[in-house]
Amino acid sequence: MALRTKEVEQSNQIAVHTELNHKNLLQSSELYQYILETNVYPREHQCLKELRQLTAKHPRNIMAIPAEEGQLLSMLVKLIGAQNTMEIGVYTGYSLLSTALALPHDGKILAMDTNREYYELGLPMIEKAGVAHKIDFREGPALPLLDQLIQDENNKGAYDFVFVDADKNNYLNYHRRVIELVRIGGLIGYDNTLLFGSVAAPPNSPLMDTERIKRNRPFVLELNKALAIDPRIEICQLPVGDGITICRRIS
Ligand code: SAM
Ligand code: CA
Repeated sequence: MALRTKEVEQSNQIAVHTELNHKNLLQSSELYQYILETNVYPREHQCLKELRQLTAKHPRNIMAIPAEEGQLLSMLVKLIGAQNTMEIGVYTGYSLLSTALALPHDGKILAMDTNREYYELGLPMIEKAGVAHKIDFREGPALPLLDQLIQDENNKGAYDFVFVDADKNNYLNYHRRVIELVRIGGLIGYDNTLLFGSVAAPPNSPLMDTERIKRNRPFVLELNKALAIDPRIEICQLPVGDGITICRRIS
């Protein structure tokens, strides 16, 4: 009898959840605005705000992570007590500044981007925030630099936190190297792993006509599959921003 009651309760719960469509929480841009205005913008550092506003005027502003994702990166960095970090793909530096502000005074970020001009656009805000001393910016493609880092045994397991947000065709190449550089218990965040929702869109979706999506989707699908079965990591796919997969190295 007790079991039957439990079953009825469970089926009622399922009915309620179906009705509320709780699996797809962000149903409107109003809800997104609510999150930004209630939880994110009031706590955003003044220099991050200025950097965000400056970036909004740049023609490639779609590349910057949104403010709520900056808040997530900051929380992760603080939760694991990160000290030594890396970022692949800087653009004007919103994720970089979010990380730099979250690190302790003697924390470090090795930041890589092929384009120094983008980085220099945001640099005045990074300097104003008093965190420029934490950043070691390297201009150039990330892959050869990672290969160079791996040559030195001292760099293996030396990083607490790595954020990857650059050329999607190289994500798996980055993973093969970064997994050796991050310590066991450290985190790697891969950005854009839901790619505007295109990872699960039907072939006739208008999304598939977008050049950026056509180009990157096969690589993101391949990465997602590889991360899902990689025994060296635990993963958590979050629908924050354009989707971020947090990987925790376990072996
Ligand atoms: N994380 C940044 C933010 O929060 O604003 C956004 C990064 S943006 C999506 C991607 C960046 O990766 C661009 O600035 C681009 O110049 C850089 N990039 C592209 N290919 C690269 C490569 N092979 N090595 C390093 N950086 C690269
Ligand atoms: Ca991104």
